[in-house]
Amino acid sequence: MEKIRIIVAGPRGRMGSEAVKMVNSTEHFELVAAVDHKYDGIMLSDLEGLHSIHNVPVYSNIETCLQNVGADVLIDLTTPEVGMHHTKTALAYNVRPVVGTTGFTASDLEELEHICQEKDLGCIIAPNFAIGAVLMMKFSQMAAKYFSDVEIIELHHDQKLDAPSGTAVKTAEMISAVRETKEQGHPNEKETIQGVRGGNYDGMHIHSVRLPGLVAHQQVLFGSDGQTLTIRHDSYNRGSFMSGVKVAVESVMEHNSFVYGLENILV
Ligand code: NAP
Repeated sequence: MEKIRIIVAGPRGRMGSEAVKMVNSTEHFELVAAVDHKYDGIMLSDLEGLHSIHNVPVYSNIETCLQNVGADVLIDLTTPEVGMHHTKTALAYNVRPVVGTTGFTASDLEELEHICQEKDLGCIIAPNFAIGAVLMMKFSQMAAKYFSDVEIIELHHDQKLDAPSGTAVKTAEMISAVRETKEQGHPNEKETIQGVRGGNYDGMHIHSVRLPGLVAHQQVLFGSDGQTLTIRHDSYNRGSFMSGVKVAVESVMEHNSFVYGLENILV
């Protein structure tokens, strides 16, 4: 079996460094390069925490990287702006993106889907690679058929740049797909502190909590007459996302289309 040749963008990051280690320790994966905007022309083993990863060149520019190394897959774990640029550039070079970076807009996703269609190339974007989180979203969608009132509370570490989380938006989208639009709460409800009821997505409310000590957590609360149901998932470390990234890398090699959400590739 030929190895899948992989580039990781964002190798010093909390997610990226885990991805580097996961790729390096997977027998049928080969880490061929890394993209880091602060370093060029060094080896990954020169970077703090990555000394044991040998013979992997680092490029500051994605295009130069793609021109110099033969790769099958780009794993992007950076920031929304640069992640979009990396993803488009990878597709232009016929390299399949697996994107964990969150904060892409609906029009970004549409644009990428269009490029994938034109190029007949696979791309997987997942706002949450934790398999437990995917099940939490699926269970929430099941529950929403029977409970039309729902509040989503997502809780993350305080260094997270985007709010609400991609997982919360994806959960809201999945719930919206199965329930009638409903403005929740009292029709005359007034906020005496602005924003206290959270963001409104199709009538349901999303609340974003940011605190040091947290990693990635979400609870979805459903209520109806005389009962509530709470579905909760907790990621306690970044390693929790890597089994999903691995499945996505394997799967993107089999797909020739755009996939948004890990739930669409888990069988
Ligand atoms: P992080 O620790 O801040 O890492 C981001 C990395 O991207 C940093 O090393 C940063 O470098 C680097 N970077 C910034 N601009 C860059 C550029 N132009 N080129 C290359 N690298 C660049 O963040 P994280 O916690 O690892 O999260 C990374 C992304 O994954 C975020 O969007 C986060 O929301 C998302 N995430 C996704 C999942 C999932 O399951 N899908 C789970 C957790 C997090 P500097 O330090 O020099 O700025």
